[in-house]
Amino acid sequence: MKFSAVKGMHDVVPAEASMWEWIEREARALFATYGFEEIRTPVLEKTALFVRGVGATSAIVEKEMYTFVDQGGEELTLRPEGTAPVVRAYVEQGLYQDDQASKLFYIGPMFRHERPQKGRFRQFSQIGVELLGAAHPLADAEVIAMAVRLVARLGIDDTRLEVNSLGCENCRPNYQAALGALIAQVASQLCDDCHRRIEKNPQRIFDCKNTTCQQALADAPIMQDYWCEPCHEHFSQVCAGLEAMDVPYYCNHRIVRGLDYYQRTAFEIVTNHLGAQSALCGGGRYDGLVKELGGPDSPGVGFALGLERLVMLLEEAQRRPVSRIPRVYVAALGQAAREQMLPVMQQLRQQGVRVEWDYEDRSLKSQMRRADRCGAQWVVIAGDQEIAAGTVAVRNMTDKSQHDIALGQLVTKVSELISLAKETA
Ligand code: AMP
Repeated sequence: MKFSAVKGMHDVVPAEASMWEWIEREARALFATYGFEEIRTPVLEKTALFVRGVGATSAIVEKEMYTFVDQGGEELTLRPEGTAPVVRAYVEQGLYQDDQASKLFYIGPMFRHERPQKGRFRQFSQIGVELLGAAHPLADAEVIAMAVRLVARLGIDDTRLEVNSLGCENCRPNYQAALGALIAQVASQLCDDCHRRIEKNPQRIFDCKNTTCQQALADAPIMQDYWCEPCHEHFSQVCAGLEAMDVPYYCNHRIVRGLDYYQRTAFEIVTNHLGAQSALCGGGRYDGLVKELGGPDSPGVGFALGLERLVMLLEEAQRRPVSRIPRVYVAALGQAAREQMLPVMQQLRQQGVRVEWDYEDRSLKSQMRRADRCGAQWVVIAGDQEIAAGTVAVRNMTDKSQHDIALGQLVTKVSELISLAKETA
């Protein structure tokens, strides 16, 4: 019997894992400069958290959650997104008691039972950021700038930042009424999915990819015309902040976020290189969510970036992380040499050197081929006769020079060679 991975879920094999590790490292380094710290929450949460926090009318809660009842009769869900769990932790752990805003980030897997396609999986990973306790529009601008800078830092270009404001509870109802009036006129041209959206959250009809629906909605009113004064002011300050930080953006007044709790700022980073799944990153402001989840009336703003989509773009651009770990291959020939080299290899590894060797005792020729393939910068050649004479040969794989070194000097000499190579690199 042969097993395969669950549909929509995938293995990250070593060649790709180095890319993941690099992206995560770059994200951590960048977030640290803005004072963001990591939070790790469980992958399982009570189902009610998402019903409440993501919204009962959202596509995620309606049909995409991996939900089950555990042995204790508790209804649990594999997290489909990271914001509700982080807000739950923020409230439960009393992080809001700090008089500073909480600057949090997370990296981890999310689960949604969607129809898998290019760039869309059922288990996928997100790098997410949540800034809790800051209502100022410049907080939005800074969070957006972080997302843009992460994408740029990874060398991904040809992306576009699109921003919008979804209004607030004061102005959105007027907009929804106007939108409702238009929908009533074009209802017969809309698809079944749109009709379902209309019942629950009419703004979601802009998510529809059906061209007939899009044409029917071409003259739909836009939220911008209905913003109240404070929403206007908030949006212009977000834009001014982005301009001050030299972050180019486009206003796209059709952006609607997939989750119910967004208000005011909503943004996406999109690319033309991912087919239908054009969104690389999505985020916005969600004032009201913390209160909704039993906490104080703290505002929040954040984003989530899809790791798989980042990896796909980097692979397309043939960008590979460069390992800075020095590599040494030990070609030990014969039993005595292998035994002598074992502690030496341990010492080299303690110095942070990656040491590879052959478990099978193959010929020198075959071991040299392997050394080449694994990208070793130096090869230590240790035959039984050399070992008996107390020496080994160290071969520089770049210029092919070779020197004999006394066994007792080996670790020091190799460390010296590595530092020298680092200095001249
Ligand atoms: P969302 O939480 O839906 O706002 O998504 C934020 C980001 O997560 C998106 O821009 C994607 O990069 C990524 N993402 C969302 N859903 C999926 C999925 N099913 N498969 C892969 N990546 C996803």
